[in-house]
Amino acid sequence: MNTILTGVLFFSGLALTVTVILHIAAQKTASGQKNTGRPAGTNKIRLDDDFPDYRPRVQNKTQKRKKSPSRKRFSLSGSLHFNSLVSEIPLLEAGLPEYVYIPLKLPHINALPRLTVKKGDKVRAGSLLAQNKKYPEADIYASVSGKITGIENISDAFGAEIPAVIIKVEKDDFEPSIDLSPDIIREIPYSEKEIISKIRHSGIFSLAGAESMENVFTGGQKISRLIINGIDAEPFPGIRENLLCKKAEQIIIGAKILNKAFGIQNALIAINRKRPDILKLVSGLTRRYVGVNTRSCPAYYPSGQKNLLITAITGREISAGRRPENYGFMVLNAEVALAVYEAVLKNKPLCEHFITINKNGKSTSFCTRLGTPVDFLLKKLSLSPENGKIILGNVLTGREVLNSKAPLTGQDSKILYLVPSEQISGPCIRCGKCLEACPLHLQPYAIASALQSHDQDRLKQLHAADCIECGACAFVCPARIPLLSLCRQSKTEFKNN
Ligand code: SF4
Ligand code: SF4
Repeated sequence: MNTILTGVLFFSGLALTVTVILHIAAQKTASGQKNTGRPAGTNKIRLDDDFPDYRPRVQNKTQKRKKSPSRKRFSLSGSLHFNSLVSEIPLLEAGLPEYVYIPLKLPHINALPRLTVKKGDKVRAGSLLAQNKKYPEADIYASVSGKITGIENISDAFGAEIPAVIIKVEKDDFEPSIDLSPDIIREIPYSEKEIISKIRHSGIFSLAGAESMENVFTGGQKISRLIINGIDAEPFPGIRENLLCKKAEQIIIGAKILNKAFGIQNALIAINRKRPDILKLVSGLTRRYVGVNTRSCPAYYPSGQKNLLITAITGREISAGRRPENYGFMVLNAEVALAVYEAVLKNKPLCEHFITINKNGKSTSFCTRLGTPVDFLLKKLSLSPENGKIILGNVLTGREVLNSKAPLTGQDSKILYLVPSEQISGPCIRCGKCLEACPLHLQPYAIASALQSHDQDRLKQLHAADCIECGACAFVCPARIPLLSLCRQSKTEFKNN
C-alpha cells in the first residue's frame, strides 16, 4: 500500500513540474522574447526599429555590469582603430583673406544656377550670388562682404577648371536679416514646409554629406530614422568631436529641426565610445529635448562612412550600390546639423565651414569663410606650400593639392601637411594585413593583381566595384603598395567596360 501511495505522489509531482515548465515555455513562445527578468512589456525595444534612449545606468556597487549581446552583434570586423583621442584641439577663427573664390557649381549637382550679380557689384556675407529657381539646392551665397572683381574659370586644388565668383574682401559685415547674436534659440516656430524651404534655400548642400537630403526633399523618399554622425574615426582628429564639445546644444536643436522636416520623432547622435566626456555632456543636454538621443559607438575607421555607421548602430546592412535613404535611414554629419540650426533659426545661409589642419600629429581647427584659399590658412600656422606636401582630405584617402591658391569648399574639412619623404613600394609579401583591414572583406591584393593583368572576370568575381575607397588596405600594407589607387582604378575600369 505504502509503495502504491509513494508511486502516486511521485507521478503527481512529476506531472505538476512538467505542466509548469510547459506553461513557462508557452509564454515565452507567445511573446517571442527571452525572459530578461524585466517586467512584461519593458523589453520590446528592437534596435532595428527604435533608437533606445541612452541613459547611463546607476549601478549598485554589488551589481556586475552585464554585456549587452545586441551591442556585441553590431561590432564591425575589419576596419582600423586609431588611438587619436585628443581631448580638445583649438578651434580658431581664420579671419578674412584678401580674396575669396566661390565656385558656382556644386560637385554633385548638375544644375547650374543663374547669376544674380555682375562684375563690379558690392555684396555682403549672406547675399545671393546665383540661384536656380527650380532647384534651390544649387543656390550660391557670398561668404564675405566686398566687391565682385571677376566671374571666370579658376583652377581648383587638383588642377581642374571651375567657374567661380571672385570677391575682394572690404568689410566684415553680413546681411542685416542674419541673426549674429550668440543667444541660442530653442523654439522652432516653423511648419514642416517652411523648414524644408529654408533648408533648400540655405546653400548647405555644398557641405560634405548634406547631398543625401536632396532625394528626400525633391524625390519624396520617406525617412524613418535620422542619425547624426558625431564621430571622428580617422587617424587625425577632425571637427565633429570638437563641435560636440563646443556647440552641442545647437547641434541637438538642428537634429530636432531635421526630425520635423522629415516628419519623424527620433534622431540619434552617434558619439565615440572612447569619449565619455562628450557622451556625458550631450546625453545631459538631450534630456531637455524630446526626440533626440545619443548612442555611443566604437570609432573604427571607416565606421564614419554612412553605411557602416548604420551597421554599427542598428545591425542593418546596406547592400552594395544602395543608399541609406533606400532603407529609410538618413545619416548627416554634426556640421550639417549645426548649419541647419543656423539656416532655420538664425536665417544664416552657409558662409563658413570648418577645416582641421594637421602637421606632425598636431591639429588645429579653423572656422573659415567658404572660398578661402588653401595657402591663406597654411600661413596662419606659418606653413609654406613650397616646403611640404599638402594633402586635402584624410591621410588615408586624401589627394595631393596641386594648386595651393585654390579655394576651400564645403566638401573640404581636413588638410594634412607632410614633409616629403621618398616612399618606395615593394612586392606583396602575402601577409594578409590588407585582407584583415578591409571592412567589406574584399581581397585588395587580389584586386590589385587582377587589375594589373586586366582580368575583368576576376575583378568581377572579387567584387572590386563594391570598394568604398576607405584606404584602410593601403594604410596597413607593409610593402607600401598603393592599394587604394589600384582599387580606384579597378572601379574606373568597371565603369569603362
Ligand atoms: S579601399 Fe576598398 S579594398 Fe581597400 S580596405 Fe577600403 S574598401 Fe577594402
Ligand atoms: S598588406 Fe600588402 S604585402 Fe600584405 S598581402 Fe596585402 S598587398 Fe600584400
